[in-house]
Amino acid sequence: MNYRRLGKAGIRVSELSLGAWVTFGNQFGEDLAEQLMRLAYEAGINFFDNAESYAAGKGETVMGNVLKRTGWRRESYLVSTKLFWGLNQGVNQKNTLNRKYLLSAIDPSLKRLQMDYVDIVFCHRPDPETPIEETVWAMHNLIERGKAFYWGTSEWSAYEIVSAIHLAEKHNLHKPISEQSHYNMFTRQVMEKEYLRLFKEHHYGDVVWSPLASGVLTGKYNQGVPADSRVAFPGMEWLQESVIKPDRIEKVRQMTPLANELGCSMPQLAIAWCLKNPYLSSVILGTSRVEQLQENLGALNVVDKLTPAVMTQLDQLLANNPTK
Ligand code: NDP
Repeated sequence: MNYRRLGKAGIRVSELSLGAWVTFGNQFGEDLAEQLMRLAYEAGINFFDNAESYAAGKGETVMGNVLKRTGWRRESYLVSTKLFWGLNQGVNQKNTLNRKYLLSAIDPSLKRLQMDYVDIVFCHRPDPETPIEETVWAMHNLIERGKAFYWGTSEWSAYEIVSAIHLAEKHNLHKPISEQSHYNMFTRQVMEKEYLRLFKEHHYGDVVWSPLASGVLTGKYNQGVPADSRVAFPGMEWLQESVIKPDRIEKVRQMTPLANELGCSMPQLAIAWCLKNPYLSSVILGTSRVEQLQENLGALNVVDKLTPAVMTQLDQLLANNPTK
């Protein structure tokens, strides 16, 4: 496993990390979660991603119980959670980054995780209703109160992130250190174009999600929707329309012979392709089976096979390079 600095922060995260969305507390419970986390940790993964909203809080509960059982030293791994969507109905309690919400939502998250602090807390989405200055102060206070070591953003625009950095600099507050962005072979615009100056001039970190486009890039949807797949899971039908599209399936079909030539699988190719981006620190994996995680960890051995010539070939197949 290789480790990369998280932007300008002093901490280093494993290039591959493990997340809880859809899976922990939804598709499976503690037993499989423990097998996956142990496999990940033994492979050198030191970063586990979560959010208050995953499985309506159960994602954190499952991860917290597993971490307690493992007895791993708290210093040896990083855990993140994300706040924004909220678990309760009502004004000021959902879809918000207001000060009252942020400073009260972190405690139930920590309780579910059975931790005194998370390493990174992300603002799960931007909140156009709350002044960015209010959010920056709240995140600073949350860190000062010892609830988290660092804070970050997820799916914020470059403008919103730079505004937060400038406000933090102006008031001498803790700055956000990292984004959590959607990034894969099909979704490139933000990571490869919009954020470029953010990465180059502010050395902002990024840990990226859905590297397999919810599984589409594995080829598992080439022949239709398998009954045991994510998009067939009750409550996840909405995902089907947004991720499974004929042109994507066609591109996966076209890339598969190249994966075969390189001696790897499609998921390994797609994950290794993400790792070629020098501005991201970690690719967050999602897996619903031990075999999937074993296979996806193999992506680390594929990165060196992605020579400039192979990357050009992939670029031509994908036909979506936002800088061209
Ligand atoms: P992926 O796009 O990699 O999708 C993971 C899913 O793909 C798995 O759960 C599994 O689904 C399928 N899969 C994975 N590996 C294989 C394989 N080798 N063969 C066949 N199928 C495979 O990642 P996620 O969308 O899960 O995102 C990863 C993490 O990123 C999340 O857990 C979360 O922590 C974070 N995230 C953050 C978001 C944000 O807004 N900040 C949004 C979304 C995710 P199946 O059950 O069908 O087998």
